Amino acid sequence: MFLRRLCQSVFNAPFPTWTALAFALLLMISALPAKAVSLLRDPDIEYSLQQVAKPILNVAGLGNSIKILVVNDSSLNAFVLDNKHIFIHAGLLMRMDNADMLRAVIAHEAAHIANGHLARRHQNIGNARTVAGLGVALSALAAAATGNSELAAGVAAGVTSSASRVFLSHTRAEEASADKSAIQYLVRSGTDTQGMVQVFDLFSGQELLRPERQDPYTRTHPLTRDRLRNAKAAATAYAGKAKDDTSADYWFHRAKGKLTAFMRSPKWTKRTLKESPSEDIRLMREAVMHHRQSNSSKAIATLNRAIAKRPNDPYFYELRGQFQIESRQVGAAVSSYKACVDRARNNALCQGGYGRALLAAGQTKSALRALEKARNLDFRDGRILRDLASAYAKNGNAGMASVASAERYALQGRLKDAGIQAKRAAGLLPEGSSGWRRAQDIILAAKRAEKKKR
Ligand SMILES: [Zn+2]
Repeated sequence: MFLRRLCQSVFNAPFPTWTALAFALLLMISALPAKAVSLLRDPDIEYSLQQVAKPILNVAGLGNSIKILVVNDSSLNAFVLDNKHIFIHAGLLMRMDNADMLRAVIAHEAAHIANGHLARRHQNIGNARTVAGLGVALSALAAAATGNSELAAGVAAGVTSSASRVFLSHTRAEEASADKSAIQYLVRSGTDTQGMVQVFDLFSGQELLRPERQDPYTRTHPLTRDRLRNAKAAATAYAGKAKDDTSADYWFHRAKGKLTAFMRSPKWTKRTLKESPSEDIRLMREAVMHHRQSNSSKAIATLNRAIAKRPNDPYFYELRGQFQIESRQVGAAVSSYKACVDRARNNALCQGGYGRALLAAGQTKSALRALEKARNLDFRDGRILRDLASAYAKNGNAGMASVASAERYALQGRLKDAGIQAKRAAGLLPEGSSGWRRAQDIILAAKRAEKKKR
């Protein structure tokens, strides 16, 4: 009753009041921060996903050029923004039951890339191969994910509203083409196409919900009866022809097992420990459970049993390093991360952890070396950039500390703050040096965003 009266009085109000209200609403929306989209960076989970994806990416002709990244969001979604990354929400990973489902999702997104569906979006999102580009893309995504539409996206990310509308969504024709290619990829890689039907089942019924209650996947990848029918037909046609792939299942359950152990309650983990398909995954999950219950000695002892089962596996050492650094055993953490680095020399997140442990141990010069290497291997990790800024500062290089801070803000989509830091950096660094050029990239991105906002 009260609501209706309010609406009436608004619509009956003279023109200036109505405009003022609309303006106030606009201000309110622009003042609200877009829901933070952050990446969940974990070397173990990323490596595991890459192992599951590899055969699909190979038959799609995309080889090693695509990185699978996890978005820290509990809703169901998967999407592509550029030709280099496939993003999967943690929520979707946790809801899937097997490697075939994950491969079906990856095959569909890979097909959007391979079939060139991103071309029309590219001009709008900047170059996501740079920190600033990825940051703009992620913040536009954050705004779009709030469901509050083009307005929020345009305001928060500095992209125009028409850009945000085409930003994530695909046309029905693109969906049909991506499904068709995905089925080919699944068949050619020996994957059971039943996984695709299971993925559609996860979303079935969603199109009956009001848009704001749907998972974002349904909004960005319109589900139609045709899509489901084609997937079912493929599943029937290729039934029994899939290769048994125990390694894909292992890596799927390792990624999901670690993710759920960190994201769901320790109680839940305890209840589901026996479902872990292999002993080392069960021990790793149990260790995370103890760690989250602040029982660090039990966590480390349990993890050591997992390490004994796979002594050459870099990522169990990385997890041990995390446990140790979080329980202030800094010296031990340095050794654990070193073990990871020795076994996965080019893994940025292992290098980053090693640098963080060295920094905590007061070895600032070695820390800077490790963190610079980590940054050069991977620009997408905010934590590496934060530690790198602190390592530069401790080594007396204020200019490069500002570059690293600017890049971290840009990655979060905070282009205004990024611009301020980048300007400071440009004033401190020799003109034309690589740090100075990186600062210029960010100054430019910040200027563009500012201009689009006006
Ligand atoms: Zn799609």
